[in-house]
Amino acid sequence: MVVRRRQEFIRRDRVFGFLVPASERFLRLDTTHGPILYLEDLTVSFDGFKALNGLSLYIDEGELRCIIGPNGAGKTTMMDVITGKTRPDEGEVTFGQQIDLLDLNEPEIAMAGIGRKFQRPTVFEHHTVFHNLELAMHTNKAVWHTLVATLSGEERDRILEVLLTVGLEGHRDRRAGLLSHGQKQWLEIGMLLMQNPRVLLVDEPVAGMTPQETERTAELLTGLAGKHSVVVVEHDMDFVRSIARKVTVLHEGSVLAEGSMDHVQNDPRVIEVYLGD
Ligand code: ADP
Ligand code: MG
Repeated sequence: MVVRRRQEFIRRDRVFGFLVPASERFLRLDTTHGPILYLEDLTVSFDGFKALNGLSLYIDEGELRCIIGPNGAGKTTMMDVITGKTRPDEGEVTFGQQIDLLDLNEPEIAMAGIGRKFQRPTVFEHHTVFHNLELAMHTNKAVWHTLVATLSGEERDRILEVLLTVGLEGHRDRRAGLLSHGQKQWLEIGMLLMQNPRVLLVDEPVAGMTPQETERTAELLTGLAGKHSVVVVEHDMDFVRSIARKVTVLHEGSVLAEGSMDHVQNDPRVIEVYLGD
């Protein structure tokens, strides 16, 4: 595997790497011969305790992957490693076939096309839904741009498209602080979509949602798969069952089982450590 180093990823002639248009960044991501996200033999230790212990995981382009496992299995740590928040002691993390994520810092990884949705929604409560999406679109641009620019027709269309995708078109002029918990979560997913990520990492999306909101979130995430690779960590097994194609079970920092929901549910080791109770 040819791993491209940071110097090549951020071109020397581009002083402001963050101004590279999203479409151009994506063209450079080669996934023709393998997974979009490649985690190999990752180890992360906290004071000698191995939160990840030889974890290997491969996510394909456009797939929807569910990650389950008991508390402390290493699910959040895995996401922290992918997004550059935590450095592994050992192992490889590669995006497409060329980009070594261990060479990039957190903002560079986000710019490269990996978006992360945290559990708590972090929308701008005092701004409208529409404006939240607009701000998300400009996150990577210079501050002066956000202040002086008026929206182009193309940018406006993109915001409207995302509003439809996340089902908030009827709420575009409401202040985000007035939305329900579920609607805020969808808005935050919409804000991530404004960055056009290739991979979306979503940690416990339906925690605290009503059954109706949970169902709508299932539709939203399954609808995003194909266009994006979506990695969902979730405890709600009914929810996982409703969206799952391929499920990975983590336990003590490595993969215990992987396959269809039926396959992992009937695996005796999975039943013992996780589903048994
Ligand atoms: P999960 O998300 O699957 O519940 P985590 O990845 O959050 O698991 O945690 C895995 C293990 O690593 C847990 O035992 C947790 O206590 C430990 N851990 C996580 N982050 C830290 C940290 N910053 N310092 C020390 N221990 C940590
Ligand atoms: Mg966690």
